[in-house]
Amino acid sequence: MLVLKFGGTSVANAGAIRQLISILQEKQNPRMLVVVSAMSKVTDMLISLYQKAASHDVSYLELLSQLEAKHMEAIEDLVPMSQQIDIKGRIKMIFRELEDVCRGVYLLDELSDSTKARVMAYGERLSSAIVSVAFQHHGLPNELVDSRDYIVTDNTYLNAKVNLKATYGLMQEQLPKVELIVAPGFISRSQDGKTTVLGRGGSDYTASLYAAALQADLLEIWSDVDGMYTTDPRKASAAYSIEELSYEEAMELAYFGAKVLYPPTIAPLVAAKIPLVLKNTFNPAHKGTLISSTPAPSPQNVKGISCIDHMAVLTVSGSGMVGVPGVAMRLFKAVAQECINIYFITQSSSEQSITIGLSEAEGEKAVQAITQEFADDIAQELLNPVSLETPMSIVAIVGNGMIKQPGIAGKAFSLLGDNGINIRAIAQGATERIISVVLNSPDAHRAVNLLHDRFFLPISEDSEVALA
Ligand code: ADP
Ligand code: ASP
Ligand code: MG
Repeated sequence: MLVLKFGGTSVANAGAIRQLISILQEKQNPRMLVVVSAMSKVTDMLISLYQKAASHDVSYLELLSQLEAKHMEAIEDLVPMSQQIDIKGRIKMIFRELEDVCRGVYLLDELSDSTKARVMAYGERLSSAIVSVAFQHHGLPNELVDSRDYIVTDNTYLNAKVNLKATYGLMQEQLPKVELIVAPGFISRSQDGKTTVLGRGGSDYTASLYAAALQADLLEIWSDVDGMYTTDPRKASAAYSIEELSYEEAMELAYFGAKVLYPPTIAPLVAAKIPLVLKNTFNPAHKGTLISSTPAPSPQNVKGISCIDHMAVLTVSGSGMVGVPGVAMRLFKAVAQECINIYFITQSSSEQSITIGLSEAEGEKAVQAITQEFADDIAQELLNPVSLETPMSIVAIVGNGMIKQPGIAGKAFSLLGDNGINIRAIAQGATERIISVVLNSPDAHRAVNLLHDRFFLPISEDSEVALA
């Protein structure tokens, strides 16, 4: 069994879908399951549609017709004229349903994460229906399924948590036993029957759930770049595709911002040891990046550099923390109760301060929760008022080769220091596979490029030698 996932740019228009079809036509696998994202930009347009309707802006109707036209155009290009009536009718029905939902939001103020998830789910419902029909007309008979019938989640509508046992059970027992299945990514359903979504970029995760449940031999994720690059190619033009990564390296790079892979995707593959390859739909001859439990040994200690922007650094400090047990526990509990994700933790060795990194959007909420938790200690001046610094970025250097290898952190810190870049906080994972530093955002771009040149361009090492 081969599971393949094609992202938004890979189904952006009829031309891209044709390219996808030619990739599939080359495959010899007896059973395949293809997961597709919404057409490029469609999820953003759906969010905007929901927001316009929610704020009583009647121009949501215009956006709705633009969306409809975009999907109809793809059908007209992919399906012979005489065969278009059926699929066009189905797409029209889906749009009338979406129009009704939006009218409800517009008239009745039906504002809720549940309704928003329902609106966001239309992108994948539409793209999968069109791709399935396009396949039929290009010699690829298939069955279209609705991933909501197989992926069971909790009620966190916009970032739903998957019930793995129930999901795998449904996939193993109820998926049709045919050679080719087409399934929408991103969308799922809560136990009480409401549509949920798996978080932005979540179609990668959908594909890995299918791959794990069906014990696939391989998962292929097709996007618009030649695999996982040494760093974000939009931030450093010298970035290049990495040949092989371990699951852990890929997970760290993804978690710290390598958008090409949605971070939860790796976990379901690890237990079943299913390899994952990241490929480029628009350059299929390129090998891409292979991610597995046994990557080939690499001479590179550092495999990649990631960067997340829009972060905040929050510090709790004060003499009242020294030697008092439970301060960290109270801090993390206060943050966890607000469902805020922490990316980064450091504690000064004198215990006088704890610093955490979190998303900028959640900064104020975290300050309020922590201030409330420590109100008495702050009033007695045992603790200082909670401080919040923005805009910050986290830059992470990742590689299995860093384990037990002295000097890498030193190289990185002195490089940044020599270039006048102030490091606000530092953390190294206990596995020694990752070093992350927090910087002021305006410095982050330069820091990524400096580090990339230092660790990946032999030329810069040579020129250092030449200079010496
Ligand atoms: P898809 O829609 O196919 O899921 P995404 O937009 O989610 O694609 O991810 C692909 C994009 O990720 C690339 O176009 C690239 O700009 C960005 N990206 C960020 N960091 C990396 C990286 N380290 N390697 C490759 N691509 C990256
Ligand atoms: N369409 C969704 C998004 O844009 C899911 C995905 O593309 O993976 O976030
Ligand atoms: Mg993606």
